[in-house]
Amino acid sequence: MNTVFRWREAPDGEFAVIGDPVAHSLSPRMHESAYKELELPYRYHAVHVAPGEVDQALHRLTGLGYRGVNVTVPHKEEALAWAANAEPLARRVRAANTLLLADRACINTDAPGFLDTLADFKPKRRTALLLGAGGSARAVAVALAEAGYDLAIFNRTQSKAEALVAGLDLRGARILDAADPAGCALIVNTTSASLQNDELPIQWDRAEPGALAYDLMYRAEQTPFLVAASRRGLRTRDGLGMLVAQGARSFEWWLGIAPPRDVMLRAIS
Ligand code: NDP
Repeated sequence: MNTVFRWREAPDGEFAVIGDPVAHSLSPRMHESAYKELELPYRYHAVHVAPGEVDQALHRLTGLGYRGVNVTVPHKEEALAWAANAEPLARRVRAANTLLLADRACINTDAPGFLDTLADFKPKRRTALLLGAGGSARAVAVALAEAGYDLAIFNRTQSKAEALVAGLDLRGARILDAADPAGCALIVNTTSASLQNDELPIQWDRAEPGALAYDLMYRAEQTPFLVAASRRGLRTRDGLGMLVAQGARSFEWWLGIAPPRDVMLRAIS
């Protein structure tokens, strides 16, 4: 568990993650392990910011001399609104997770970070079932579409899946009224159902034998999604690798040096 600072009481530092809640974020441990490995004199703090206070909080952190900030739930849209210079991808997915304070600039490293973790995945046909239609679903949908995947999307609230497809202009993406993984090489869970230990209504008996079930969530014990996928004999992957990849990309954007990804992964495994 992190030491959490309220933004009004934030100490001096160079980097931070803001969120609500932020106590469980693995980012401080991950980034500080890289500073230690590379002998960089930086600090990375967990800073609590309530919704509606992102602008004020970032103003204060800038005044304290902070250089970069990562943004977690639920502030990625508010952070995008703060930025004067947003890269096109962040604008497209309406989410900024990495900020450069002095330049009021932002990027989204979730989408390319997710793709980094699929570098070793070479399915015969690039077909994916995407579960969810929230912020991370937007990033993953764009990443998969740009990597040439045919997308099928299922969300508990179907109208939100429709809004996602229309808002991102994902031509060819199919919206399903049941979570049917038939024909899909990849099944990605971007919902937060596992946070409440809820099972998703996935038709596991229709999954392809060699499919990869990928849960964006990460925690010590397997999520209900990954337990069900393992029971079906599928390959599984959790969100730890994506967390490292998005963090490593933030690090490199801020500092212009490649971070030790293996050290970062070990620090939070
Ligand atoms: P959002 O709140 O934006 O979206 C939540 C989604 O989950 C919605 O589609 C919602 O459906 C669905 N949902 C929530 N509860 C249930 C349930 N009980 N049953 C079915 N569907 C449900 O969240 P985010 O997209 O920002 O984050 C989602 C998850 O991804 C989190 O667990 C987060 O930790 C993880 N994540 C991991 C990252 C990593 O680096 N590994 C990066 C970013 C996110 P509805 O529309 O019907 O409400």
